[in-house]
Amino acid sequence: MQIKVLVEKIKENILRDYDKEVDKVTVQEMHNVVAKIAITEISKAWHESEIRFNENRHAYFLSAEFLMGRAVQNNLICMGIYDEVKEALDQLGFDINKFEEIEDMALGNGGLGRLAACFLDSAASINVPLKGYGIRYKYGLFKQTIEDGFQKEYADNWTSFGDEWSLRRFEDSVKIKFNDLEVLAVPYDMPIIGYENDNIGTLRLWQSEAIKDFDFELFNNCKYDEAIKDKTIAENISAGLYPNDNTYEGKVLRFRQQYFFTSASLQDLLRKYKELHGNDFSKLVSLNTIQLNDTHPVIAIPEFIRLMTLENNMKFDEAFNMSKEIFNYTNHTVMAEALEKWDISLIKSLVPEVYEVIEKINEKLIEELTELKVRKEDLDKYEVIKDNQVHMARLATYIGKSVNGVAEIHSEILKKDTLKEWYEIYPEKFQNKTNGITQRRWLASCNKELTELYTRLLGDNSFLKDLTKLKSLEKYQDDKEVIEEFIQIKKFKKRELIDYIYKHEGIKLEEHFIFDVQIKRLHEYKRQLMNALSILDIYFRLKDGELKDFTPTAFIFGAKAAPGYARAKAIIKFINEIADLINNDIDVKDKLKVVFVQNYNVSYAEKLIPGANVSEQISTAGTEASGTGNMKFMLNGAVTLGTYDGANIEIVREAGEENNYIFGATEEEILSIKDSYDPVEIYNNNKHIKRVVDTLIDGTFSDGYEEEVIETKEEVVEVAEENIEEKEAQVVEEKLVEGTFKELYYALLKGTHWHQADHYFILNDLDRYFEARIKLNNDFKDEFAFAKKCFINSVNAGFFSSDRTIKEYAEEIWKL
Ligand SMILES: *Cc1c(COP(=O)(O)O)cnc(C)c1O
Repeated sequence: MQIKVLVEKIKENILRDYDKEVDKVTVQEMHNVVAKIAITEISKAWHESEIRFNENRHAYFLSAEFLMGRAVQNNLICMGIYDEVKEALDQLGFDINKFEEIEDMALGNGGLGRLAACFLDSAASINVPLKGYGIRYKYGLFKQTIEDGFQKEYADNWTSFGDEWSLRRFEDSVKIKFNDLEVLAVPYDMPIIGYENDNIGTLRLWQSEAIKDFDFELFNNCKYDEAIKDKTIAENISAGLYPNDNTYEGKVLRFRQQYFFTSASLQDLLRKYKELHGNDFSKLVSLNTIQLNDTHPVIAIPEFIRLMTLENNMKFDEAFNMSKEIFNYTNHTVMAEALEKWDISLIKSLVPEVYEVIEKINEKLIEELTELKVRKEDLDKYEVIKDNQVHMARLATYIGKSVNGVAEIHSEILKKDTLKEWYEIYPEKFQNKTNGITQRRWLASCNKELTELYTRLLGDNSFLKDLTKLKSLEKYQDDKEVIEEFIQIKKFKKRELIDYIYKHEGIKLEEHFIFDVQIKRLHEYKRQLMNALSILDIYFRLKDGELKDFTPTAFIFGAKAAPGYARAKAIIKFINEIADLINNDIDVKDKLKVVFVQNYNVSYAEKLIPGANVSEQISTAGTEASGTGNMKFMLNGAVTLGTYDGANIEIVREAGEENNYIFGATEEEILSIKDSYDPVEIYNNNKHIKRVVDTLIDGTFSDGYEEEVIETKEEVVEVAEENIEEKEAQVVEEKLVEGTFKELYYALLKGTHWHQADHYFILNDLDRYFEARIKLNNDFKDEFAFAKKCFINSVNAGFFSSDRTIKEYAEEIWKL
């Protein structure tokens, strides 16, 4: 589009929609206008892409979460019109960077939801026919502030200024029937713009609405609240995203959400199929394949069979056999607390017909196991219905045509541990699909400067379509000019980050510090507590004069804790107490800074990652399924300081262990010491470790439990009582009364009702972590040598493009 034409269009739209002159327009209004023009621009290509999609074999991606982030920048880049729009806005006196004020679309918790978003982007960009199905939550992941060191949560009303990138498709609404309630699922479609290829994918998100949202009779009888009662109840279903990452809650509303969106998606799929093929279902499984993103959408399996048998007159056996061809399951975690199990009574009371199908599936399973000569006493380990609960991972593994993990080590753990008995009988189902990230968002969009350097060196930007092309840049690793330019880009991104952090947190960092960054959900297995203890250790040793040559380091954290996860919240407070101590100690002001940024989300990640020197990936070996944050850092030229876990293993395989800082216990070591592990012995014999652990109880810090925690305590106990046995709730309460830092101390040294002491082997790795940090700290002094490592990481990140991952799904699972 010509700039002149664009400028006119923008003016026209502003006048029509907002009745204003351009200079009076708000950022949100300008954003909406640009989005509207962009959507109009792609509407023909979108329509044509949809037709191609339906004509050929295609895949559906069912996910309870899509962590999309902000759309505008990425979409303009993918359309190839970013520079034109920027220029047009410039001419109108509007700085395109102001779009940074636009809300993120945060309909996901963390890695799992972000993966779903990267997959859609990749599929659109490499022409894989993939449609996303999910829930249009009214409120996304809560917004976080840090007040007096504590996390506070606020509602994320992300559509309050509109949702211009989506189209409401009321005509495609479907009804969802629960035993006690019937609601309308109304789809909103969001275009997923392929990178400069005219292919537009679709993310279809379902919103729950009342079938009859206003009872006129009740209204006339002055029963105003009752007149809109149905509306309120129906809209509750898609009202909010559950803020739990890697844990599961047996809540009725959560189950309703899962059934709601999977049933709507299947009805949509079947309706489209019937439009083209009538009631002849012979092509159904050859044209359609469905990927279940974790167990959240697994209720789709019995719902599919229910729809085929009860609403389409198919025989059970035929529908059952079809289900075994059409569904595939991705496991995302080995954490026991995340493996979903639903009470039979809950499922029965909400969707009795679906429950009957599950019973029949279970009968089929037992038949099959008997044929396979599985011993009677072993049936327990397989049964989908066991101890009055339905095991969703078992259901998915039994019916799934393929079952995959998300990094090599994770897929191996599934086979030898988590799903071991299933691997024994169905080895052919098991696959690995190492996760990936899209280079459009995580390089082109967030790091234009590095993108420009690579474009210049390669002669074109085709690496945005094939990231493995960066590998050929390895030849520049000793080129003084190239590495110098690479250094300058990192410094520039650090300065941008310094400004951003100053603006949002009021803390001024300095460019010559190492930027050491740990950003991810707050979880014990991710070991932010180990990082915190290690920082304290460094601080004390600096005070003792023990670390003479320490390169100044800024330790940056960003993390949200699930609101009911008391220990995670205690760790946030602990980190903020440490930050307070260190940032106010003039003895170390030239050496150390600690920042906990508020409201870590996709847009903050897009600032933090390009400015980082060090990527903290320190989960206990064998606990992080893959990680994708690690890949984003690698691509943007940070070294990994991490454990042998998840995709870290594959990252150092691609970029060289010598260019990263890998430390700590391997998964094998953890397995071998597990039963005899004694953290108290480490604590007693290591004065450095004892000193930092003791700060949890010796009055160095205040956890503020008297003022703050009492309130939190009630919330936690409430949550605990709903979810776990009364007895355990009491334990939670006792610990909280003593104070949250004390509780962390006990968790490390004494263990609790449900976990052994130091369940995540923090003390076991602390020494080796310190050594790796000191080595890194020392290596940083040689600017060129360190930058060379970063450069080698970046140009070897090709394997971690989600384009590669999607290609593997398309070829090896979806058979497209
Ligand atoms: C990539 C990403 C994650 C996942 O990070 P991990 O380090 O892999 O856990 C979580 N949240 C956001 C906002 C992300 O962009």
